[in-house]
Amino acid sequence: MTHFVPDNLPDHLQHYIDGEFRDSIGGATFEVLDPVTNTAYATAAAGQKEDIDLAVAAATRAFKEGPWPTMKPRERARVLNNIADAVEGQDRALAEMETFDTGLPISQALGQARRAAENFRFFADVIVSLTDDAFKVPGSQINYVNRKPVGVAGLITPWNTPFMLESWKLAPALASGCTVVLKPAEFTPLSASLWAKIFEDAGLPKGVFNLVGGIGEEAGAALVAHPDVPLISFTGETTTGQVIYRSCADNLKSMSMELGGKSPVVVFDDADLDAAIDSALFGVFSLNGERCTAGSRILVDRNIYDEFCVRYAERADRIVVGDPHDADTEVGALVHPEHYAKVMSYVELGKQEGRLIAGGARPEDLPEGNYVRPTVFADVKPDARVFQEEIFGPVVTITPFDSETEALDLANNVKYGLAAYVWTNDLQRGHRVSQGIEAGMVWMNSHNVRDLRTPFGGVKASGLGQEGGQRSINFYTEEQAVHLTLGAVHTPKFGAK
Ligand code: NAD
Repeated sequence: MTHFVPDNLPDHLQHYIDGEFRDSIGGATFEVLDPVTNTAYATAAAGQKEDIDLAVAAATRAFKEGPWPTMKPRERARVLNNIADAVEGQDRALAEMETFDTGLPISQALGQARRAAENFRFFADVIVSLTDDAFKVPGSQINYVNRKPVGVAGLITPWNTPFMLESWKLAPALASGCTVVLKPAEFTPLSASLWAKIFEDAGLPKGVFNLVGGIGEEAGAALVAHPDVPLISFTGETTTGQVIYRSCADNLKSMSMELGGKSPVVVFDDADLDAAIDSALFGVFSLNGERCTAGSRILVDRNIYDEFCVRYAERADRIVVGDPHDADTEVGALVHPEHYAKVMSYVELGKQEGRLIAGGARPEDLPEGNYVRPTVFADVKPDARVFQEEIFGPVVTITPFDSETEALDLANNVKYGLAAYVWTNDLQRGHRVSQGIEAGMVWMNSHNVRDLRTPFGGVKASGLGQEGGQRSINFYTEEQAVHLTLGAVHTPKFGAK
């Protein structure tokens, strides 16, 4: 089968600083791989400290000179809606690029491109509907809140669903009036480079959006350490988040951290089993399992455990693994050979720590590329590494429980606390368990759908701070209280005795 290559695929990716595409000052580059063939399809400029300095200087100038931060919210919203229109208008082309770069199935990449457009439209609405408080003390004083964009926002993003996750930071940062420097993940820099033209065409002033590609420890670290960047929004691994947290402390920066997860799916014996199985399959195998909120630990009531395992494994075996550009593909190629090797090492470990009931190898008909069969381990004990550690691939564990208390103990017995899924038809138990789970988000009898006004974020090692709706705007703005006396000023007269 011939391998699909998108139209206009670039063979070199550049930074975008102050309205211009440019290479690194020192000329450094790195190679970008196609996850289906694992061959380099492009080189990309590898940003260093001096490139970050240039981008931050451009963003600082655009912030200080305006007009972006002082434009009326409605005017900024118009630009954001133009961006949403542009993304929607080319959703298939964007999804094809994303699929080529990440290995995500095209049908799912298309959904992610549309969600990116929705993010811009959503934050355009949020920013125009914001009402800040003003308090009037009758007759004497007025106090009001002046909400101001923070300044230059440093945005650092991971390689899973990169285009959508970038939009989840770019849209609220721009809506708030910040100027930005984006540092996308080095595994998947392609879709980030497409923002520049979309923003230019939408009327975003020069210097407001800046992009510096490169390696995390070089470009990313320089952005985090830059004294003129007062805020860092980071999504990525917990260990990287810890490094960034320490660096931010030096300049007391605001931070938002969306980190790793190992989310439980708790299935009680009174659940709608068909729906629970559908959701628990989609929850860990969609997006190749490279999903922060993946339900990667399934906990099942012992009364239905055997039936659940048999039915779940049978369905996992039928999942279509194949070329990500094929419309029927449900699980595509993992993003990079390094990540593939990591996932496969967990697959081998799982064979010692649990009972393999589906997958456990690459598909026989796909000898090349980063393909893994959906892999299911049953009877996994809570101290197993495959139970505790984030694998970030199409691998799931199943563990039985005998009581609600044990289910909760197992659910909370990991360092992460991002998401959880609870399946029961007992309303009271559903709420009891949901509230007892240490996770930022719980879906009860539901899968990963949510209203963008609700908080998104994790607890424990899964993150700091929450985003969504006005919470995102609060993060990218700072409030200043202004107090004004309306009549005569009655200051105690110090020094007048
Ligand atoms: P990663 O931490 O390796 O890299 C993320 C970004 O940080 C990349 O752009 C990288 O270049 C940069 N980076 C690396 N070291 C850095 C440093 N020292 N200073 C500054 N920047 C640095 O993560 P990844 O492998 O790209 O992404 C997968 C991880 O992201 C998983 O753990 C996943 O759960 C998590 N994730 C979380 C969410 C969420 O919302 N909670 C969403 C998506 C992904």
